[in-house]
Amino acid sequence: MTGRLLDPDPSIPSLYTHTWPQTLQVDSRGRHCPKACPNDPRFLEWFASSMRTLAWLLEVNGFVWDEPSFHYSRGTWSCRCEYCQRLFRGTYDSALPKRLSPEVLEFRRQSIAMFLLAARAATQAVDRRLRSIVMPPPLNAPNSRYSGGDDWGLLADSAAVDAISVLVIEEGAGAELDHTALYTDAASVIAAKGKQVWLWVASDLESAEKVANHKELATRLGAQRLVVADYESLRDRHSLPQMTQLLTRLAQ
Ligand SMILES: [Zn+2]
Repeated sequence: MTGRLLDPDPSIPSLYTHTWPQTLQVDSRGRHCPKACPNDPRFLEWFASSMRTLAWLLEVNGFVWDEPSFHYSRGTWSCRCEYCQRLFRGTYDSALPKRLSPEVLEFRRQSIAMFLLAARAATQAVDRRLRSIVMPPPLNAPNSRYSGGDDWGLLADSAAVDAISVLVIEEGAGAELDHTALYTDAASVIAAKGKQVWLWVASDLESAEKVANHKELATRLGAQRLVVADYESLRDRHSLPQMTQLLTRLAQ
């Protein structure tokens, strides 16, 4: 629902991207991507209003902002919408370059950081105790450095962020990387900024060995929390035993 700026899972349909196509990111070939632009004031207004409503309705301690990011695919990048072009010109006093220059990469990182400030302001307008946790795209994901959410020091430095939730890619491209050093370094940067590190654990961890690896990584990162997110057991009660087994293994 959240315009796919958050929750980039392509398997989950977004009602927002269908109803607000004019606010979607524009890529370097001039095409709209199915991802809202964090610099589009219409998206920001809709998002802030929706999050305020959720904060009123839900009995929660805070919100997790799941992988806020810009589109990037095979050298094509976003966003070149009119708002991004205006904002870039206002910041750098020059036109938004056609290529993904260091200034453009930094502009995208700052745009994500500004979006998180708006997200936190929206929920805290309802209750100042509501916490704000960001889960950046995994560092070992392909193209992570083109996501706009790759500078974890910048994110940890932000007043909008109470904790950073760490997601590690376990399968597919990127999983083969030795990611322990990568994440350990990132966790020490987060801790140095006085922010918490949480480790996000996929609910489909079936082997005891994988669970043990996650617990070891959590210790190395100095993670304050292990978070298990599970959609299947909400939809299908038959997956509950697997979830229970995972939680038991994690607690051991
Ligand atoms: Zn834009």
